[in-house]
Amino acid sequence: MNDRISAVQARQVLDSRGTPTVEVEVHCAGGAIGRAIVPSGASTGKHEALELRDGDPKDYAGKSVHKAVANVRQVIAPAVVSMAATEQAAIDRKLIELDGMPDKSRLGANAILGVSLACAHAAAASRKAPLWQYLDRRPHAPREASVARSVTPTIPMPMVNLISGGLHAGRNLDMQDFLLMPIGAKSFSEALHLTTRVYRSLSETLRDHGYEGVLVGDEGGFGPKLGDNERALEMILEAFDRLELVPGRDVAIAIDVASTHFHEGGLYRLKDTLLSATTMAAMLTEWADRYPIVSIEDGMAEDDWAGWKTLTESLGQRVQLIGDDLFATNPRRLAQGIEQGVANAILIKVNQIGTLTETLQVIDQAHAAGYRCVISARSGETEDSTIADLAVATGVGQIKIGSVARSERLAKYNQLLRIEEQMGPGAPFATWQPIERPQ
Ligand code: PGA
Ligand code: ZN
Repeated sequence: MNDRISAVQARQVLDSRGTPTVEVEVHCAGGAIGRAIVPSGASTGKHEALELRDGDPKDYAGKSVHKAVANVRQVIAPAVVSMAATEQAAIDRKLIELDGMPDKSRLGANAILGVSLACAHAAAASRKAPLWQYLDRRPHAPREASVARSVTPTIPMPMVNLISGGLHAGRNLDMQDFLLMPIGAKSFSEALHLTTRVYRSLSETLRDHGYEGVLVGDEGGFGPKLGDNERALEMILEAFDRLELVPGRDVAIAIDVASTHFHEGGLYRLKDTLLSATTMAAMLTEWADRYPIVSIEDGMAEDDWAGWKTLTESLGQRVQLIGDDLFATNPRRLAQGIEQGVANAILIKVNQIGTLTETLQVIDQAHAAGYRCVISARSGETEDSTIADLAVATGVGQIKIGSVARSERLAKYNQLLRIEEQMGPGAPFATWQPIERPQ
């Protein structure tokens, strides 16, 4: 059989912050090769699967991943060699069993995810299909891993980082990301073009307001010293205005509050003020009234379920409320959220859970409960563009990659352009649907 795995190789490579990460290559008997590189977060949630690092202060300040690489070579490779690369669910089950820990802490979620994704690439290569098409057809996908509804592969609407703060840009703003949604675009390439125009307009706006020599944050968004969060929103509105774009029709704003990192002792610290969850929810609601904000991520901290409830009651019927640190792409956390009626969308990050099969299952679980999904990159990324194909194949409709600067971000946008071309004229593109009904 051509798609039998004949060898699995792993090595340490570097990500976009110059931090080590795991690269895996899966070779099939017929000659097909699949490769994947694992991403890494900075504002990592406490409920994420474990990223195994060596902890030796002399080796990349404790961040080398030689143990994870050794686990792929010595423990995982012997167990998956001779399985068919197309048996994704069986391979992922084997990886989960070999690890045996709920947070994948024995072998490391970075070791496991590298193998899981590289297998998918090898399987697609052995079928001579682009990954998005292979994942959509999934010839050997068992029922449990299949997408429950009939899904049309669709190019997602991008949610693009414009201004960065929080842990991604020297903490000069409390909010982590202010993002653009090019909602008026009719195709992906049009969305990307519109985005670059807004990015340039914002650059000029910042310069004209005296923010000279603005550096960009980890995801390519501008990191100006703006003073306060509202100022960031005002700068973006001015950038829209300079292009005569109509907020709510052509463009809209999303924010990632990433509030876990400024949640202390049950309160939210914004500059020198401490806010209760109720005050925080009131502030976000006021922003949603005042600005064209259609989506808010992590408006409350990862374990503040009561705060999340308050926020959802206030905004859940008109704004997309995404749980990132809250859900950590974890089926048990998502089930708890669905049961309590908190948030109405989930951020999907493959390395938060650690295998492709579990990622697909969480997407199915969210959709079955009427929650939206946004496939997301991490702040530490590489040239690996698997998530672009994943977003198309699952038809989730939204992707968050970072800004239109820095090649680890562009690798994904460019892959979406390739897919758009492969799909041909009229390639399905997800338009933005406002949140209008109770979730
Ligand atoms: P992270 O940031 O990759 O540093 O966690 C991305 C996000 O919070 O969405
Ligand atoms: Zn986030």
